[in-house]
Formats: sequence, C-alpha cells, structure tokens
Amino acid sequence: MTKWVYTFGGGRAEGRASDYERLGGKGANLAEMCTLGLPVPPGLTIVADACDNYYKNGRKLPEALKGEVAAGLLQMEAITGRRFGDTSKPLLISVRSGARVSMPGMMDTVLNLGLNDQTVQALGHDAGDARFAWDSYRRFIQMYADVVMGLDHEVFEEILEDEKAHLGHALDTDLSAVEWQHVVSRYKAVIEEELGEAFPQDPEVQLWRAVGAVFASWMSARAVTYRLLHNIPETWGTAVNIQAMVFGNLGNTSATGVAFTRNPSSGENELYGEFLVNAQGEDVVAGIRTPQSITEAGRIASGLERPSMEKLMPEAFAEFRHICRQLEAHYRDMQDLEFTVERGTLWMLQTRSGKRTTKAALRIAVDMVADGVITEDEAVSRIDPASLDQLLHPTIDPRVNREVIGSGLPASPGAATGAIVFTAEEAVEAEAEGRKVILVRVETSPEDIHGMHAAEGVLTTRGGMTSHAAVVARGMGIPCVVGAGTMRLDTRNERLMGIGITLQRGDVITIDGSSGQVLKGEVAMIQPELSGDFGRIMGWADRSRRMTVRTNADTPADARAARSFGAEGIGLCRTEHMFFEGDRIQVMREMILAESEEGRRVALAKLLPMQRSDFTHLFTIMHGLPVTIRLLDPPLHEFLPKSDEEIAEVAAAMGMGAALLRQRVDALHEFNPMLGHRGCRLAISHPEIVEMQARAIFEAAIDAARETGAAVVPEIMVPLVGLRSELDYVKARIDEVAASVIGEAGMRIDYLVGTMIELPRAALRAHVIAEAAEFFSFGTNDLTQTTFGMSRDDAAAFIPTYQRKGIIEHDPFISLDFDGVGELIRIAAERGRQTRADMKLGICGEHGGDPASIHFCETIGLDYVSCSPFRVPIARLAAAQAAIKARG
Ligand code: ADP
Ligand code: MG
Ligand code: MG
Repeated sequence: MTKWVYTFGGGRAEGRASDYERLGGKGANLAEMCTLGLPVPPGLTIVADACDNYYKNGRKLPEALKGEVAAGLLQMEAITGRRFGDTSKPLLISVRSGARVSMPGMMDTVLNLGLNDQTVQALGHDAGDARFAWDSYRRFIQMYADVVMGLDHEVFEEILEDEKAHLGHALDTDLSAVEWQHVVSRYKAVIEEELGEAFPQDPEVQLWRAVGAVFASWMSARAVTYRLLHNIPETWGTAVNIQAMVFGNLGNTSATGVAFTRNPSSGENELYGEFLVNAQGEDVVAGIRTPQSITEAGRIASGLERPSMEKLMPEAFAEFRHICRQLEAHYRDMQDLEFTVERGTLWMLQTRSGKRTTKAALRIAVDMVADGVITEDEAVSRIDPASLDQLLHPTIDPRVNREVIGSGLPASPGAATGAIVFTAEEAVEAEAEGRKVILVRVETSPEDIHGMHAAEGVLTTRGGMTSHAAVVARGMGIPCVVGAGTMRLDTRNERLMGIGITLQRGDVITIDGSSGQVLKGEVAMIQPELSGDFGRIMGWADRSRRMTVRTNADTPADARAARSFGAEGIGLCRTEHMFFEGDRIQVMREMILAESEEGRRVALAKLLPMQRSDFTHLFTIMHGLPVTIRLLDPPLHEFLPKSDEEIAEVAAAMGMGAALLRQRVDALHEFNPMLGHRGCRLAISHPEIVEMQARAIFEAAIDAARETGAAVVPEIMVPLVGLRSELDYVKARIDEVAASVIGEAGMRIDYLVGTMIELPRAALRAHVIAEAAEFFSFGTNDLTQTTFGMSRDDAAAFIPTYQRKGIIEHDPFISLDFDGVGELIRIAAERGRQTRADMKLGICGEHGGDPASIHFCETIGLDYVSCSPFRVPIARLAAAQAAIKARG
C-alpha cells in the first residue's frame, strides 16, 4: 500500500533529504532539518506520486489521502497546541508546492490558510494584535483568490492602492486593524462580484481546494513550458507541503527573509541575505519594499541605511548564522535558506542547494577543496559543464568612458547591449527577427520567462538580489540588473527615465550585470580572463579525464581560439568552407564547369597553393597536435550560382553563355542532395580533386614541420563511406600522392587515412572497413539523419510536435539518441577494434560538445570528442565528469 503522507515536526520526521524524489526537494529538506533538531514548524508532505495518481485517475485524489492528512494535522495540532478551524486557538497553515527539482515561481504558496470571519477574531485575540490578524487575513484572501480561485492579484492591489490613497498612508504597514478589516470586506465583495461565489469560509474546503490547485498548477501552461525547457518528465509530479504557520508580520520583533550561506554572485564565503521587518512570505522576493541586508557587512557594502538583522535582532541572527554553518557542513554545499522570525524566535522554512553564478560555483568549489570539505573530483563533478558558457560572456572594456544613466543591483554577471523593449512578447518577436534587445520591466514574473530567454539582458527598476528577475537571470546565465531605483519606468507612456535622459522603445542601452550600471548606447566589450578558479577546476578536470578533447575548426581564427580554450587537436577540419572565400569560389566554379578532366586539372592547379597555405596555417597553429582533415564533402552544385542574376554575372565573368551555364547547373541538380553525389562518391567520380587535396595536405605538413620543428601527422578523413571498396579506391589515390610528395621532398611523412562513420552500413561493416581505415570518426549529424531517415534541416517542422506529444524526449540532433544511433556507434567501435585493436575512435558531430553525449562516448571507450571552439571547456569538464563517474 502506498504511503501518501509523511509528517515532520517536534524534532522527528518520517522522511529525509534523500527522499526528494518522493517528497520533493522542499519536503525532503524540511524533514531533514527537523531531524537535525532545527526549529522547523511542524507539517506534513503529500508525496509527489499523489499528483501523478491524481491525473491518471481523472483528477481524483487517492481514497486513503484524506485520512492520512487528517492524522498528520492531528499531530501538528498536538505539537502546536492549536486546532485547525478552532475559534479560540486556530491553527493556520501554509500550502506549499514542491517538486523534485526546484521550479522557480511555477507554483505559488498559500499562506494563513484556515482563516475566516471567525478565526480571524480568535487569531487577533490570541496574539493580542488585531492589526496582525487582519493583515494576515487580507494576505490569505488575496493569495487564495489568485492561486486557487483564479482571480488576478491586480484587482486587489488596486483596491489597496485606492484605500491607501484615501487614508493618506504611504506603506502597507501603516494600516490599522480597522483599516485592514475594511480592505478585507472590499476584497470579499470583489470576489463575489467577479467570480459569482463567496470566499470559502470552511477551512476543510479551503485546504482541499488549495491541494487541488497545487496539483492543477503542475499542468499549467507555464509549468509545462518550463518542464519542456528543462527536460523534466511529467510523471514526476509535485509534492504538497502543509505546514503550521509562523508569523513574520507580528510587529517589529518579527521578520521574514531569505539568505545564501555564501555570496551567490561572487562565491565569496560570507553570509548573504535580505529580510524585511514585519512582513510575510514573499514580500522580500516580490520587491514590494526594498529589503534590508541581514548582515552588517552586507548593509555597509550595498550602502543601505536601514539596520541589518545582525543589529536589529542580534539573538535570532546569531542563531541563524550558527544554523547556516551547520547546514552547510551537513549538506557540504552552499545553501539557499528561507526563514521567519516570530517575536524574536527564529524558524527555518526551507533549505536547498543554492543557485549560483558559474563564477560563484567555481569559487565555492575551489574554496571547499581548500577547506578539505570536498575532493578535487567532487569539485569537478559539481560544476554544470553547460554553465561554463556564462564565463565566455563579454564584459565591458574597463578603458571605455562609461556614460552611466542609471544603476541598480548587479544581479547576474556579464554585460549586454540591445534595444529597449518593455514586454516579453516584444523580446520574443525581436529574437525571431534576429534583433538584440534588453527587456526592461518594473519587476518580472513567471510570465516573462520566455521574454527573458529571448533578450540579451534584463533590467528591472524594483526588487532585490533574490527577486524573480535576479534568480531566473542567474539561472539562465544572462546579464541582469535589478532594482535600478535611480531609473523610473513609466509603463503607461512606455518611457524609461534615467539620469538626465528619457528613453523610448528601440533606444540602445548597455547593462552591466557585474556592477549594476546602466549605460547609454553600445559599449566596447572584452572577453573574460580564463584563469583563476576556472583554471584550477579545469586543471583538475584535465587530470581526471581519459578522453582527449579536440575541436572542429576550419579557419586559423577558430584553431587559435580553440587552442586558448585547451583543445588538444583538430578533430574535424571541413575543407569546403575554404573554397567559398574571396576569388576561390570563382576558380572552384571553373573546376566544376570544366568540360574535361584536363580542364578540371588546370583549375585545381590554381586551387592547390591556396589550399596548401590553409593547411600550413592550421598545422603551424596546432604545433604537432593531431589534425584531421576531411576531404571535400558537399555536392558540387552548392558552389554554383542559383538565381538568374547570379548566373548571368558568373557567365559573363567566365566568358560563357548564360544558357549553357544554366544547363550545367540544372544538370547538377539533385532531388535529395543529402543522399546524393557527395562525400567519397565525388572523390570516386573526380579523383583529381582528392589528389589535389592530398598533395596540399602533404606539402603543408612538410612546410609546417620545417617551420615549427614539430612533426605533423595528418589524418586524412574520407567522408560518407558505406563500402570498404569506396575507401580502398580513395585511399589508393592518397597513397600514390603521398609516395610522390615524399619522393619530391626527400622527407618521410607519417599520415593516417581513416573514415567518417556516418552511414548505418558503415557502422555494421566496421570490421571490414577497419581493414582499410586507420581511424574512425563518428559523424553523428549525418549518422542521426541516416539512422532516423530524418533530414536535420527539415526536422524542425515536426520535432517540437514530437516533444510536445511525448513521442520523443530529446531532439536527437542536439543530444545523441543512445538507443539507436548510439547502438550503431557501439557496434562500429566494437567491430572496428576487433580488426584493428589500437584504432583511434572519435566523435565530431554537434554531439561532441553535448555533456550527455560526451558521457555516452566515455562509456563506450572512444578516444576523443571534437566540438566547436567555444564548447571545448564544456567538453573538457564533461569528459572529466564522465571519467570520474566511470571510475565510480
Ligand atoms: P517558493 O517555492 O515560491 O519559495 P515557499 O513554499 O517556499 O514558496 O513559500 C514562500 C514563502 O512563504 C517562504 O519563503 C516563507 O517566507 C513563506 N512561508 C511558507 N510557509 C510558511 C509557514 N508555514 N510559515 C510562515 N511563512 C511561510
Ligand atoms: Mg514563489
Ligand atoms: Mg521557498
């Protein structure tokens, strides 16, 4: 029988941190904190399976759930000495969602549940504070109506603004009990008016509708999108936490706050947090009031005037600091905490592994190794390889003159330039049109996530370092400035007022997420220094790694960038790009359009020195590291003009009739070029092309070796081989050229001839092909296309539908299809090595830079992965993690 409910409280808990799959992250950690003896209000967790069960049974809650929740509530009542729905000492509860992984802002929490027209009186009486009771009730009504009944919170905000204006109050905290009571009656009236039903008074009804709402939110459009973006399966479901309330809004000795045990932006080992006195729940995150720093050091650093928690509530602060240390030591990681102080007493409401910038992640990992808390391998394993991308963001050149037009908090590092847009929709549109924009908002909410994704950077005029915009931007790795109080956003007239300037939609600004500054116009940027903590972690990664990491580079600039990122060779140099440059395309066209082999040889002779100098450059930059060069792959018609104007122009330049040229172009037309006259097929039809390329490679190898003193062992790769006889034929041409170049130069050259495995037939016949091939490189782009029979260029029309309908989980062109394509790679690797035990095996498709695919490559024992230059650090780290995991 399934156990649906796990209780916690009074120093005991039925669950623990490792139960997060069942209890969700929040519930599991509440249980763990309880067991550690920390002050946690008692509660219960409805397991995430109940959510899946709810959907599988036509939105019905499991039978046994009611009883188990009732039993849990009894236990909470016993611990608190209060009763749910009681009219003298009412127990109030919060209903909190909590999935296995944190989904920021996806599900909203309902606080103060259990209040109604009777219990509010009892609460005020019991606390001796009627203002507090009515403040709690109005919060409850607003949250409940919004989250459970679906009435937009703006309706309530308008009423409150109206009341405050009427009463002449500036702050929410200025309202008295009677004034709140009046607000409450207006809230209830507007609910009846808008929804045609009264606000539910029965606490049981309130509770079960709230539980249903949490489950319903799992299927909300926002949550579904988030899951798609983050590959979270629907069946995980969300848990529901029901917890006794503690109150941060009980006057000036009460407060609520959030904290990180270390600085989440820089990683510095200092407690970092924000809090608000006499506040509740998400006031801090919502940015309604500007929060205060919890530490004195933090207050001074950010120039805040209002006192820190350290000063204001020294005892609660000391206890909190102690708990922070305890939790960090227990979890051996930086924690993100939520807490409330009720009349001087500290209560812990949440802990989890804190989200951090990549910079902070590196710093924390390095510091924790230095302190002996974690090992070097653990440090390496903790960094998300994909997040290294953040470090590659440009920053503002320190030498430029900054024209500062505003400033806020540096919420997410890196600088970004773009035109101002005021809505998420505009940002999404701009991205589709290839325009770079900065999303400017008063504050962001989960509805803005798409726009944030689409924007280069985000600027808000309200909110703190833990506001929605700040948290989400850090997670996405996009530059962000929040709480730019020196700027004002006039949403009605769509204007952004800065210091001495008024900006409109489309005006270009630059935000500096590392300093919090907002600058006018576009500003010069520089690439970051990849040393320090990054260098340390990468050093450890390189030591743990088994596979080597090469790069896909066609140009000297790519090769140089890749070397600086630590590439250990070139795994794929595509030669076709070289023929598109400058006047080469002209010579290339002469070659293709030549009537005879002699004509082709004349043109090829002109291409030879150009091609040779390309290779000499690459070999020189790579200084003896392996370089794999792929022979010409694409069908020839790709080099020919297409439109009538282009054809006329080329024909004139070549002194031939446009009609004749059109004829030649048409003759080369193919119905399905992806499966047409390309790869080694081209080499077999026109061996003189291979001969020119091979000669260029060998002569360049000799030149570069003479220049650098480092021997070059070129690896020549024959594309699209399906038959051993194809490879035999092409290899024979290469060997002939090698023999003659060696004869001419009087110098020995070592070289390898291998093939790409990019056709299922090649994978299956690998043992035979390996008799001729000295290495294999898995061309997983084509191998995915040919295995699925899906053209990558056309797949965008249906892959998203497949994902939405649950037909496939991942796009196989992004993350390798382990079951099918992966199986072919495994077969080819095994069979290839049966024939040639020391055969070098590598991967050179897009997948070579994808962490999950790199893990797969480790498990089947490939020798190297090759990826685009900017992904080299990601691949180095992912390869290290895979090796560490494989060692156990
Ligand atoms: P989220 O996942 O959005 O952070 P939470 O469930 O953590 O949502 O709730 C948000 C905030 O609500 C908490 O940080 C805390 O301030 C407040 N809260 C939740 N439960 C309680 C409770 N039992 N007592 C007091 N405050 C609570
Ligand atoms: Mg929230
Ligand atoms: Mg929380």
